[in-house]
Amino acid sequence: MYAEGVAVMAGRIRDEDIALVRERTAIADVISEVVTLKSAGGGNLKGLCPFHDEKSPSFNVSPARNVFYCFGCGVGGDAIKFLMDAEHLSFVESVERLAARAGIQLRYVEDDRSAPRPRPQQGQRQRLVAAHAAAVDFYRSQLTTAGARPAREFLAGRGFDRSAAERYGCGFAPDGWDLLTKHLRQQGFTHDELVTAGLSRPARSGSLIDRFRRRLMWPIRDITGDVIGFGARKLFDDDDGPKYLNTPETPIYKKSHVLYGIDQAKREIAKQGKVVVVEGYTDVMACHLADVPTAVATCGTAFGGDHISVLRRVLFDSDERAGEIIFTFDGDAAGQKAALRAFEDDQRFVGRTFIAVSPDNMDPCELRLAKGDLAVRDLVARREPLVDFALRHVISRFDLDTVDGRVEAMRRAAPLVAKIKDREKRPEYVRKLAGDLGMEIEPVQRAVLNAAHGPQAGGAAPAAPAAPARPGRATPAVDSPRSMVEREALKLALQEPVLAGPMFDAVEVTDYQHPVHVAVRAAVAAAGGASTATGGAVWIERVRDACDDLAGQALIGELAVEPLRIDGEPDPRYVSITMARLQWSSVTGRIRDLKSKIQRVNPVSNKDEYFALFGELLSLEQHARALREQAAGGL
Ligand SMILES: [Zn+2]
Repeated sequence: MYAEGVAVMAGRIRDEDIALVRERTAIADVISEVVTLKSAGGGNLKGLCPFHDEKSPSFNVSPARNVFYCFGCGVGGDAIKFLMDAEHLSFVESVERLAARAGIQLRYVEDDRSAPRPRPQQGQRQRLVAAHAAAVDFYRSQLTTAGARPAREFLAGRGFDRSAAERYGCGFAPDGWDLLTKHLRQQGFTHDELVTAGLSRPARSGSLIDRFRRRLMWPIRDITGDVIGFGARKLFDDDDGPKYLNTPETPIYKKSHVLYGIDQAKREIAKQGKVVVVEGYTDVMACHLADVPTAVATCGTAFGGDHISVLRRVLFDSDERAGEIIFTFDGDAAGQKAALRAFEDDQRFVGRTFIAVSPDNMDPCELRLAKGDLAVRDLVARREPLVDFALRHVISRFDLDTVDGRVEAMRRAAPLVAKIKDREKRPEYVRKLAGDLGMEIEPVQRAVLNAAHGPQAGGAAPAAPAAPARPGRATPAVDSPRSMVEREALKLALQEPVLAGPMFDAVEVTDYQHPVHVAVRAAVAAAGGASTATGGAVWIERVRDACDDLAGQALIGELAVEPLRIDGEPDPRYVSITMARLQWSSVTGRIRDLKSKIQRVNPVSNKDEYFALFGELLSLEQHARALREQAAGGL
């Protein structure tokens, strides 16, 4: 397939070819290979941004304009830009990839200089992927040879026939030092390319040898279906390497991101809103063949945060729609440990996490072999919420027949309940835990509360201890950070008008949210503004007279005497921080409203309005960033 060798040519792609690639590329198709997109109305699509971490979708794609834009992080552009950012490709590589997709033959403009200059980065990914594609063919052809008999026996012994082996591209790395290396060198791949790809490695003699020998090979594909690495299983007793050997980290193979089977599973994962995480290549195959098409596996590494990010984008996991992630483990200690570790990650994963543990300690591959396809589907169907699993596991270590055992089990279990993100579910788990332990609800509840609040002390407010509560007053509660900062700004205007006046007056009444605060702010303006005041009782009286709101009048008296939330004397920096925090709250609220408005505007029929809102949004976001810096005030 890789015959024309265009990518190694020095030179520039012709401009008209680049234009043609843009024109023939449907951006939604390209992006939906990585991000699950849903309708956002007005012909637009949205999904979870692949460039920043988010819980609700702000990543928008406009098929009509052939562009994408993220309201969350501001990244945007065309399909070429998307591939450059998402796949870390160069411009040329992105164009080449899209051209191949659209069946466009690219033409290159030769550089003026006659000797082609080597450009190592140009088309590197293409070259490495091409080398892997050639390696897949090579290993596959070896699977039918006499020496590959143990590989065929291994597959047959796991219940995989020839068509299954072909579907997953299984192959055999033959017995020999450099058979693959020689084969690929003949196809024009360079020494450096084979080493960079992780397919070959230099021997002590300096010559190049195959990385994988005498092993059963699984090609590992990225989400778009390109082969980027291999998993290799030991077949012979005299092979003293590890049971499984994987491609090392390369420019295209990052094991913390790779999920085996994701290329085949992604559509079903998106459709069903769930994913099944298994442990090995054979488990993925067994699940898919048993009609659990959503199975994927990590490759030689524990399931981690990067895997979660990859899956969340496919799942479209968001606050509105929770995706389900199901871990299968065989019941041994390692599996249980892995499950509990997954619980740590669960806090980042909005979706619900489940554990499916095979009762006979069999993995999905063994289960399918012993009990058939139905048993595999059953295993997944019998999943249990991770929290339940973790609690049961913790409690099982203690002797609940003794008081000491029950109390200790409660102490260990309480932090898990306290970690449950969904606060509404906590009381339910407190009751369940109390029932499982055979204890009263109250002590369990107390233990959970202690675990939830124990380690946290001191908030983020750059201030002195909170003002003493004054029950019975008809004033706004100091319950939210926003309310608190509004209150602080008003105190500065009333108590320190000379210091705070100009900065206070510059922030408009519309930046205040609480109705009583709005009334007091308006009264300050009606009294001539804080910058005209010299302070003291006369100023307070003037503001009170200008206030026509009863609750406002009462609040003015209170704010005039309530201590500021700062140790020592207030200074300009404190005023600046307070006013910036006040405006920041207001600006972020306006950004939220604007984003929602933009999503409702049709960019095709209301192009002008769309761009106007867009411009407004960009400047507001810039403003918000500036305010946040000001609010941080070097603290
Ligand atoms: Zn983003």
